[in-house]
Amino acid sequence: MHVLKTVEEMRAASRALRQLGQRLALVPTMGALHAGHLSLIRLARERADAVAASIFVNPLQFSPEEDLLRYPRNFPRDRDLLENEGVELLFAPSVEDMYPEPPATLVTVEGLTEALCGRSRPGHFRGVATVVAKLFAIVAPDLACFGQKDAAQLAVIRRMVRDLDIPVEIVAGPIVREADGLAMSSRNAYLTPQERAAAPALFRSLERVRALYEDGERRSGPLVAAGTRPLEEEPRLRLDYFEIVDPDSLLARERIEDRALVAVAAFLGTTRLIDNLLLGAQPGLARETN
Ligand code: AMP
Repeated sequence: MHVLKTVEEMRAASRALRQLGQRLALVPTMGALHAGHLSLIRLARERADAVAASIFVNPLQFSPEEDLLRYPRNFPRDRDLLENEGVELLFAPSVEDMYPEPPATLVTVEGLTEALCGRSRPGHFRGVATVVAKLFAIVAPDLACFGQKDAAQLAVIRRMVRDLDIPVEIVAGPIVREADGLAMSSRNAYLTPQERAAAPALFRSLERVRALYEDGERRSGPLVAAGTRPLEEEPRLRLDYFEIVDPDSLLARERIEDRALVAVAAFLGTTRLIDNLLLGAQPGLARETN
Protein backbone atom coordinates (compact mmCIF):
# COMPACT_ATOMS: atom_id res chain seq x y z
CA MET A 1 0.00 0.00 0.00
CA HIS A 2 1.30 3.44 -0.91
CA VAL A 3 0.69 6.15 1.67
CA LEU A 4 0.33 9.54 0.03
CA LYS A 5 0.66 12.52 2.34
CA THR A 6 0.31 15.40 -0.09
CA VAL A 7 -2.13 16.43 -2.80
CA GLU A 8 0.64 16.25 -5.42
CA GLU A 9 1.67 12.71 -4.40
CA MET A 10 -1.94 11.56 -4.49
CA ARG A 11 -2.57 13.06 -7.93
CA ALA A 12 0.57 11.41 -9.32
CA ALA A 13 -0.35 7.99 -7.86
CA SER A 14 -3.90 8.17 -9.21
CA ARG A 15 -2.68 9.30 -12.64
CA ALA A 16 -0.21 6.37 -12.78
CA LEU A 17 -2.98 3.85 -12.04
CA ARG A 18 -5.39 5.33 -14.55
CA GLN A 19 -2.68 5.35 -17.22
CA LEU A 20 -2.48 1.59 -16.72
CA GLY A 21 -6.19 1.49 -17.55
CA GLN A 22 -7.19 0.65 -13.99
CA ARG A 23 -10.63 1.53 -12.65
CA LEU A 24 -10.08 3.38 -9.37
CA ALA A 25 -12.49 3.48 -6.40
CA LEU A 26 -12.29 5.95 -3.53
CA VAL A 27 -13.54 5.38 0.03
CA PRO A 28 -13.39 8.66 1.97
CA THR A 29 -13.16 8.36 5.77
CA MET A 30 -12.21 10.33 8.86
CA GLY A 31 -10.25 7.36 10.25
CA ALA A 32 -10.91 5.53 13.57
CA LEU A 33 -11.90 2.71 11.27
CA HIS A 34 -14.45 0.03 12.12
CA ALA A 35 -16.23 -2.78 10.29
CA GLY A 36 -18.56 -0.26 8.58
CA HIS A 37 -15.62 1.42 6.86
CA LEU A 38 -14.10 -1.94 5.95
CA SER A 39 -17.37 -3.07 4.34
CA LEU A 40 -17.08 -0.06 2.01
CA ILE A 41 -13.51 -1.03 1.15
CA ARG A 42 -14.78 -4.50 0.15
CA LEU A 43 -17.63 -2.99 -1.85
CA ALA A 44 -15.09 -0.79 -3.64
CA ARG A 45 -12.87 -3.82 -4.28
CA GLU A 46 -15.77 -5.68 -5.97
CA ARG A 47 -16.30 -2.83 -8.38
CA ALA A 48 -12.83 -1.53 -9.19
CA ASP A 49 -9.31 -2.66 -10.07
CA ALA A 50 -7.68 -0.50 -7.43
CA VAL A 51 -8.93 1.00 -4.18
CA ALA A 52 -7.91 4.30 -2.63
CA ALA A 53 -8.99 5.19 0.91
CA SER A 54 -8.63 8.62 2.43
CA ILE A 55 -8.26 9.52 6.08
CA PHE A 56 -8.87 13.18 6.79
CA VAL A 57 -10.63 14.69 9.78
CA ASN A 58 -12.09 17.66 7.95
CA PRO A 59 -12.21 20.77 10.16
CA LEU A 60 -14.64 22.43 7.75
CA GLN A 61 -17.49 20.10 8.75
CA PHE A 62 -17.13 20.66 12.50
CA SER A 63 -18.60 23.71 14.20
CA PRO A 64 -16.45 25.42 16.88
CA GLU A 65 -18.37 23.74 19.72
CA GLU A 66 -18.12 20.24 18.19
CA ASP A 67 -15.63 17.43 18.77
CA LEU A 68 -12.88 18.21 16.18
CA LEU A 69 -10.04 18.11 18.71
CA ARG A 70 -11.20 15.01 20.58
CA TYR A 71 -12.33 13.10 17.45
CA PRO A 72 -10.66 9.64 17.75
CA ARG A 73 -7.45 9.33 15.74
CA ASN A 74 -5.26 6.23 15.42
CA PHE A 75 -3.31 6.38 12.19
CA PRO A 76 -1.01 3.33 12.71
CA ARG A 77 -4.00 1.08 13.47
CA ASP A 78 -6.02 2.44 10.54
CA ARG A 79 -3.06 2.03 8.19
CA ASP A 80 -2.64 -1.63 9.24
CA LEU A 81 -6.37 -2.35 8.77
CA LEU A 82 -6.34 -0.86 5.27
CA GLU A 83 -3.12 -2.68 4.40
CA ASN A 84 -4.76 -5.97 5.47
CA GLU A 85 -7.71 -5.20 3.20
CA GLY A 86 -5.31 -4.87 0.27
CA VAL A 87 -5.97 -1.16 -0.28
CA GLU A 88 -3.55 0.14 -2.93
CA LEU A 89 -3.49 3.85 -2.06
CA LEU A 90 -4.00 5.62 1.27
CA PHE A 91 -4.38 9.37 1.05
CA ALA A 92 -3.74 10.97 4.44
CA PRO A 93 -3.11 14.67 3.92
CA SER A 94 -2.52 17.27 6.62
CA VAL A 95 -5.00 20.09 7.21
CA GLU A 96 -2.39 22.53 5.86
CA ASP A 97 -2.08 20.54 2.66
CA MET A 98 -5.84 20.36 2.08
CA TYR A 99 -6.47 23.97 3.13
CA PRO A 100 -3.28 26.01 2.56
CA GLU A 101 -5.53 29.06 2.90
CA PRO A 102 -9.10 29.37 4.20
CA PRO A 103 -11.22 28.31 1.21
CA ALA A 104 -13.22 31.09 -0.47
CA THR A 105 -15.15 28.48 -2.49
CA LEU A 106 -17.65 26.35 -0.58
CA VAL A 107 -20.15 23.85 -1.98
CA THR A 108 -23.71 24.36 -0.77
CA VAL A 109 -26.35 21.93 -2.00
CA GLU A 110 -29.35 24.22 -1.58
CA GLY A 111 -32.19 22.75 0.47
CA LEU A 112 -30.45 19.47 1.18
CA THR A 113 -27.67 20.93 3.32
CA GLU A 114 -30.27 22.41 5.69
CA ALA A 115 -32.26 19.17 6.12
CA LEU A 116 -31.97 16.58 8.94
CA CYS A 117 -28.52 16.92 10.58
CA GLY A 118 -27.94 20.14 8.63
CA ARG A 119 -30.59 21.83 10.78
CA SER A 120 -28.93 21.00 14.08
CA ARG A 121 -25.41 21.21 12.62
CA PRO A 122 -25.42 24.37 10.45
CA GLY A 123 -22.53 24.37 7.96
CA HIS A 124 -21.88 20.65 8.44
CA PHE A 125 -22.99 19.43 5.01
CA ARG A 126 -21.38 22.42 3.29
CA GLY A 127 -18.10 21.29 4.87
CA VAL A 128 -18.75 17.69 3.77
CA ALA A 129 -19.69 18.64 0.19
CA THR A 130 -16.65 20.92 -0.11
CA VAL A 131 -14.14 18.32 1.09
CA VAL A 132 -15.69 15.55 -1.01
CA ALA A 133 -15.57 17.80 -4.10
CA LYS A 134 -11.89 18.42 -3.34
CA LEU A 135 -11.21 14.69 -2.86
CA PHE A 136 -12.91 13.94 -6.19
CA ALA A 137 -10.77 16.61 -7.89
CA ILE A 138 -7.54 15.30 -6.31
CA VAL A 139 -8.09 11.54 -6.59
CA ALA A 140 -10.21 11.55 -9.78
CA PRO A 141 -11.82 8.19 -8.91
CA ASP A 142 -14.13 6.34 -11.31
CA LEU A 143 -16.39 5.50 -8.40
CA ALA A 144 -16.70 6.38 -4.72
CA CYS A 145 -18.33 4.39 -1.91
CA PHE A 146 -20.32 5.93 0.95
CA GLY A 147 -22.30 4.40 3.80
CA GLN A 148 -26.10 4.42 3.95
CA LYS A 149 -25.51 5.13 7.66
CA ASP A 150 -25.04 8.80 6.71
CA ALA A 151 -28.12 8.91 4.47
CA ALA A 152 -28.36 12.70 4.26
CA GLN A 153 -24.66 12.94 3.38
CA LEU A 154 -25.29 10.45 0.59
CA ALA A 155 -28.19 12.52 -0.78
CA VAL A 156 -26.06 15.69 -0.65
CA ILE A 157 -23.16 14.03 -2.48
CA ARG A 158 -25.37 12.44 -5.14
CA ARG A 159 -27.01 15.80 -5.83
CA MET A 160 -23.66 17.61 -5.95
CA VAL A 161 -22.27 15.07 -8.43
CA ARG A 162 -25.37 15.46 -10.64
CA ASP A 163 -25.45 19.26 -10.47
CA LEU A 164 -21.72 19.71 -11.11
CA ASP A 165 -21.37 16.87 -13.67
CA ILE A 166 -18.57 15.31 -11.65
CA PRO A 167 -17.62 12.13 -13.53
CA VAL A 168 -17.81 9.71 -10.61
CA GLU A 169 -20.24 6.89 -9.86
CA ILE A 170 -21.60 6.98 -6.30
CA VAL A 171 -22.11 3.58 -4.67
CA ALA A 172 -23.85 3.18 -1.30
CA GLY A 173 -23.13 0.38 1.16
CA PRO A 174 -25.61 -0.90 3.77
CA ILE A 175 -25.38 0.04 7.45
CA VAL A 176 -23.10 -2.26 9.44
CA ARG A 177 -24.31 -2.83 13.01
CA GLU A 178 -23.11 -4.25 16.31
CA ALA A 179 -24.77 -7.50 17.46
CA ASP A 180 -27.38 -5.53 19.48
CA GLY A 181 -28.32 -3.37 16.51
CA LEU A 182 -26.32 -0.22 17.27
CA ALA A 183 -25.02 1.26 14.01
CA MET A 184 -21.23 1.25 14.03
CA SER A 185 -19.71 4.71 14.37
CA SER A 186 -16.33 6.10 15.35
CA ARG A 187 -18.24 8.22 17.89
CA ASN A 188 -19.53 5.11 19.74
CA ALA A 189 -16.12 5.14 21.46
CA TYR A 190 -17.24 8.24 23.40
CA LEU A 191 -20.13 6.41 25.10
CA THR A 192 -19.92 5.51 28.80
CA PRO A 193 -20.94 1.89 29.58
CA GLN A 194 -24.40 3.14 30.67
CA GLU A 195 -24.82 5.20 27.51
CA ARG A 196 -23.63 2.27 25.39
CA ALA A 197 -26.28 0.08 27.01
CA ALA A 198 -28.97 2.66 26.13
CA ALA A 199 -27.76 3.28 22.54
CA PRO A 200 -29.55 0.36 20.79
CA ALA A 201 -32.84 2.20 21.52
CA LEU A 202 -32.25 4.04 18.22
CA PHE A 203 -32.27 0.82 16.24
CA ARG A 204 -35.25 -0.51 18.20
CA SER A 205 -37.20 2.64 17.39
CA LEU A 206 -36.55 2.10 13.68
CA GLU A 207 -37.59 -1.55 13.97
CA ARG A 208 -40.92 -0.42 15.47
CA VAL A 209 -41.46 1.79 12.46
CA ARG A 210 -40.57 -1.04 10.11
CA ALA A 211 -43.03 -3.39 11.85
CA LEU A 212 -45.88 -0.87 11.63
CA TYR A 213 -45.03 -0.14 7.98
CA GLU A 214 -45.10 -3.87 7.24
CA ASP A 215 -48.56 -3.99 8.87
CA GLY A 216 -49.67 -1.53 6.19
CA GLU A 217 -49.37 1.87 7.91
CA ARG A 218 -48.30 4.53 5.40
CA ARG A 219 -49.03 7.77 7.30
CA SER A 220 -45.92 9.44 8.70
CA GLY A 221 -47.68 10.67 11.88
CA PRO A 222 -48.40 7.25 13.39
CA LEU A 223 -45.09 5.85 12.12
CA VAL A 224 -43.12 8.65 13.80
CA ALA A 225 -45.18 8.30 16.99
CA ALA A 226 -44.40 4.57 17.14
CA GLY A 227 -40.71 5.25 16.54
CA THR A 228 -40.27 7.98 19.13
CA ARG A 229 -41.95 6.03 21.97
CA PRO A 230 -38.98 3.70 22.73
CA LEU A 231 -36.72 6.75 22.73
CA GLU A 232 -38.88 8.64 25.21
CA GLU A 233 -38.75 5.59 27.50
CA GLU A 234 -34.96 5.86 27.64
CA PRO A 235 -34.11 8.62 30.18
CA ARG A 236 -30.45 8.95 29.11
CA LEU A 237 -31.45 9.77 25.58
CA ARG A 238 -32.35 13.24 24.24
CA LEU A 239 -34.05 13.19 20.84
CA ASP A 240 -32.75 15.62 18.21
CA TYR A 241 -35.05 14.62 15.35
CA PHE A 242 -37.15 11.73 14.10
CA GLU A 243 -38.32 12.32 10.55
CA ILE A 244 -39.71 10.62 7.49
CA VAL A 245 -38.38 12.22 4.32
CA ASP A 246 -37.83 11.56 0.65
CA PRO A 247 -34.43 9.80 0.39
CA ASP A 248 -33.29 12.03 -2.50
CA SER A 249 -34.71 15.49 -1.77
CA LEU A 250 -34.80 15.00 2.04
CA LEU A 251 -38.17 16.81 2.01
CA ALA A 252 -40.65 15.75 4.71
CA ARG A 253 -43.27 13.21 3.64
CA GLU A 254 -46.79 13.09 5.06
CA ARG A 255 -47.35 9.65 3.60
CA ILE A 256 -45.06 7.00 2.19
CA GLU A 257 -45.97 6.49 -1.45
CA ASP A 258 -42.99 4.48 -2.65
CA ARG A 259 -39.63 4.96 -0.96
CA ALA A 260 -38.95 6.86 2.24
CA LEU A 261 -36.08 7.48 4.59
CA VAL A 262 -36.80 7.26 8.31
CA ALA A 263 -34.00 9.16 10.04
CA VAL A 264 -33.26 9.60 13.72
CA ALA A 265 -30.66 11.57 15.67
CA ALA A 266 -30.32 11.63 19.45
CA PHE A 267 -27.87 12.68 22.12
CA LEU A 268 -26.57 10.31 24.77
CA GLY A 269 -24.71 12.62 27.13
CA THR A 270 -22.64 14.80 24.81
CA THR A 271 -22.46 12.19 22.03
CA ARG A 272 -24.79 12.59 19.07
CA LEU A 273 -25.77 9.36 17.34
CA ILE A 274 -27.67 8.91 14.07
CA ASP A 275 -29.39 5.98 12.43
CA ASN A 276 -31.89 5.42 9.65
CA LEU A 277 -34.04 2.99 7.74
CA LEU A 278 -35.06 2.92 4.07
CA LEU A 279 -38.66 1.88 3.56
CA GLY A 280 -40.22 0.71 0.34
CA ALA A 281 -36.78 0.07 -1.07
CA GLN A 282 -36.18 -2.99 -3.18
CA PRO A 283 -33.74 -5.50 -1.69
CA GLY A 284 -30.25 -4.35 -2.54
CA LEU A 285 -31.34 -0.75 -3.05
CA ALA A 286 -28.88 0.44 -0.46
CA ARG A 287 -26.27 -0.57 -2.99
CA GLU A 288 -28.00 1.25 -5.81
CA THR A 289 -25.65 3.41 -7.85
CA ASN A 290 -26.10 7.07 -8.69
P1 AMP B 1 -16.67 8.62 8.67
O1 AMP B 1 -15.28 8.14 8.90
O2 AMP B 1 -17.55 8.54 9.88
O3 AMP B 1 -16.70 9.98 7.99
O4 AMP B 1 -17.33 7.61 7.65
C1 AMP B 1 -16.71 7.30 6.42
C2 AMP B 1 -17.65 6.50 5.57
O5 AMP B 1 -18.02 5.31 6.24
C3 AMP B 1 -18.96 7.26 5.26
O6 AMP B 1 -19.34 7.00 3.92
C4 AMP B 1 -19.91 6.65 6.24
O7 AMP B 1 -21.26 6.70 5.80
C5 AMP B 1 -19.42 5.21 6.27
N1 AMP B 1 -19.88 4.55 7.49
C6 AMP B 1 -19.75 4.99 8.77
N2 AMP B 1 -20.35 4.15 9.63
C7 AMP B 1 -20.87 3.15 8.89
C8 AMP B 1 -21.63 1.96 9.19
N3 AMP B 1 -21.96 1.63 10.43
N4 AMP B 1 -22.00 1.17 8.16
C9 AMP B 1 -21.68 1.48 6.88
N5 AMP B 1 -20.97 2.58 6.53
C10 AMP B 1 -20.57 3.41 7.52
